Amino acid sequence: MTVFPKPLVIPIFIPNLGCPHQCIFCNQRAVTGVAAKMSDAHHIRSTIKHYLQYKKPDRTVVELSFFGGNFLGLPAQWINRLLTDVAPFVADGAVDGIRFSTRPDTVDNARLRYIRKYPVTTIELGVQSMNDGVLAAANRGHTAAQTRAAAALLRENGYRVGLQMMIGLPEDTPETSLITAAAMMDLKPDFVRIYPTLVLADSPLADLYAQGHYTPLSLEACVLQLKTLYRLFAARGIPVIRMGLQASSELNDPSVVLAGPYHPALGHMVLSDIMLDAAKQALAEKKAHGKDATLTVHPAGYSRMQGLGKQNLETLKQCFGLGRVFVRTDAELPEDAVRVSC
Ligand code: SF4
Repeated sequence: MTVFPKPLVIPIFIPNLGCPHQCIFCNQRAVTGVAAKMSDAHHIRSTIKHYLQYKKPDRTVVELSFFGGNFLGLPAQWINRLLTDVAPFVADGAVDGIRFSTRPDTVDNARLRYIRKYPVTTIELGVQSMNDGVLAAANRGHTAAQTRAAAALLRENGYRVGLQMMIGLPEDTPETSLITAAAMMDLKPDFVRIYPTLVLADSPLADLYAQGHYTPLSLEACVLQLKTLYRLFAARGIPVIRMGLQASSELNDPSVVLAGPYHPALGHMVLSDIMLDAAKQALAEKKAHGKDATLTVHPAGYSRMQGLGKQNLETLKQCFGLGRVFVRTDAELPEDAVRVSC
């Protein structure tokens, strides 16, 4: 497990703006609590200033990110206006770069020409799946071939490329998600995000769910799939920078998330489970049954080793009949290592 330094990200939501399709799973307004309208320059400036208060000396990178819509699908004058509003913050050094997410089928030479003069550093593609059947079932309106072409064009134009995938979409299976991950790895992304499919109120998926035509992943199955995918990407040195949607009061509302594997700390759960597996293996190798044990991990892995509510430590005690269990840190250890002494 590799822990990558996190930039301070300043989010500017553009919920569902620039979307040519209503993807079956999507309701950005529900996710963000923000109505579908363009942010004005005043709002953008005050958002940036608000977030910059949290800039710490050890935060080396500050990125401004347009989220939640299809950035390159916006009319050209909107793109120019948004980028013109934020570019001065990059020019004066307060912000290091601009990123946005967009659909693969809106990446083309003409649109990339619009943005060439702005300090955009990173572009994320909503890949969702590399299986055309899954894409069609999700009403994405683009194909895997378009994702390949878009990623190649972004690379040629010198952008950092992030890829977003989803698991648990209609017609998706653990096997097709592995194929999606492998196809994404072939595109050599700089990072990926993985989102489980949730049934959001007022989305087309909510209708399918209500009619009994869609069954979401359980939280357990979701964590298992994410573990597998995380390990695959990590083995290729590709950072998984997010698993699960950003927690928000909207997502905690059961009238917004009707069903599906939502948990406010999903990524932490997955990483904690991976640490638990590593600790089990190390304890078994040490033949630690019935003893007190000290688990030493990299400082970045301390809370992951404990697990939510220290659940990992309880599990280890039960599995190995341990007495007391201590967690210590050692910055010299690799970030995915667990050293056991007993
Ligand atoms: S998933 Fe993206 S492209 Fe589809 S409706 Fe939502 S914001 Fe628009």
